[in-house]
Amino acid sequence: MIKISLPPKAAEIIARLEAGGYEAYAVGGCVRDSVLGRKPQDWDITTSASPREVKSVFSHTIDTGIAHGTVTVMLGREGFEVTTYRIDGEYEDGRHPKEVRFTPNLLEDLKRRDFTVNAMAYNETEGLVDAFDGIGDLRRGVIRCVGNAKERFTEDALRMLRAVRFAGQLGFAVEEETTEAMRVLSGNLAKVSAERIQTELVKLLISPHPEELRLAYETGLTGVFLPEFDRMMETPQNHPHHCYTVGEHTIRAVANIRADRVLRLSMLFHDIAKPACRRADENGTDHFHGHQQAGSEMTRRILRRLKFDNDTTDRVCRLVRWHDDRPELSERSVRRAVSRIGLAQYPELFEVKRADILAQSDYERREKLAYVDAYERIYREILGRQQCLCLKDLAVTGRDLIESAGMKPGPGLGAVLEELLEAVLEDPEKNTRETLLALAKKS
Ligand code: ATP
Ligand code: MG
Repeated sequence: MIKISLPPKAAEIIARLEAGGYEAYAVGGCVRDSVLGRKPQDWDITTSASPREVKSVFSHTIDTGIAHGTVTVMLGREGFEVTTYRIDGEYEDGRHPKEVRFTPNLLEDLKRRDFTVNAMAYNETEGLVDAFDGIGDLRRGVIRCVGNAKERFTEDALRMLRAVRFAGQLGFAVEEETTEAMRVLSGNLAKVSAERIQTELVKLLISPHPEELRLAYETGLTGVFLPEFDRMMETPQNHPHHCYTVGEHTIRAVANIRADRVLRLSMLFHDIAKPACRRADENGTDHFHGHQQAGSEMTRRILRRLKFDNDTTDRVCRLVRWHDDRPELSERSVRRAVSRIGLAQYPELFEVKRADILAQSDYERREKLAYVDAYERIYREILGRQQCLCLKDLAVTGRDLIESAGMKPGPGLGAVLEELLEAVLEDPEKNTRETLLALAKKS
């Protein structure tokens, strides 16, 4: 017998619904994760009670998704989503059920769920309810649709990307019939909103197995929402530093970096313009001049298309823009690099560089890594000594120039400040009020 220890508040909600004469279970992801010994993100509860009945049992509730039968029950500060057993009506457009119908039957509710491992319910009275051998699939490490895969993907095309995402999160394989249905129906993903795709893509990227991207490519899914990735998969790199196609290098680079959203997105896009920038020289060696700048511009367009927020977009684009910038290893050059790239991109830039190198061929790997180590060491020394790296670190402001150096407000002022910054990046000793005012008077 499988026993799951419910958090006290989830157990309390279930008990109170049962005391009111209704059925209630923990369901979906939390049951799956508990059986696997993983910590569930949140505890969803499914019940035979209608939303109105749920609201009558608890004193504090929020109508989160009342049309779909979801009420959030607040116990103290903690909220739990309680959803009435439902059947999703006919899907008219591969995205939304035309209507949802409530049902008194738990099995009907489990049947509408996407994968067997996500279609189990549990409470302390009945134990585990597992009508589709979700436990067997958890043991085998398999993602399998509930029922007929083609039908389920025709109802909601996003499920195909979710299959890849769960494979990445759980380290599972997608079962053969399910994979085959994805190959046939991947084109339907075009009907799904960018927001829903973004959510699943990010979960896949920050999962322990982002290399499952390869499955998204092989089944045709990336071809729908990220055709630029398919171009990378098709682009060889004939160069001693490389031993993979751009796409295979990219997949490895993503897997090599910390599971952070911005970092993983940056690795996904760092070489996105290589297919467009590829030129072979007379020896047949490939070069990709300009791919950083072009890549950062492409990345901006793609992230906008996928409806990413501006902050994420800016951070990723900057890391793409400078991922292969290699200043000379002197304090002066590093100060200039930091000032040009922007302090905010550090120290992530070093992580990006290392992940990139580790996804290349062995050729000169040790030297390349030693370079990044030395770059980072110099960067940290500069930070440690609090050297000036941007206008706001200068010992004078525009106001000082007006009040003490007799300058006039206007665009000329900005240019002088830039010149002073140049001088200070060159020689940090110059960052004193007297020296800078004297320099400003001369200019
Ligand atoms: P996570 O840990 O990411 O929250 P999860 O399994 O809880 O994983 P959710 O997206 O939160 O995934 O969905 C909760 C449950 O709702 C799933 O376990 C599944 O039973 C069901 N579900 C979610 N989306 C779909 C869908 N598109 N089609 C069918 N069932 C779905
Ligand atoms: Mg969830």
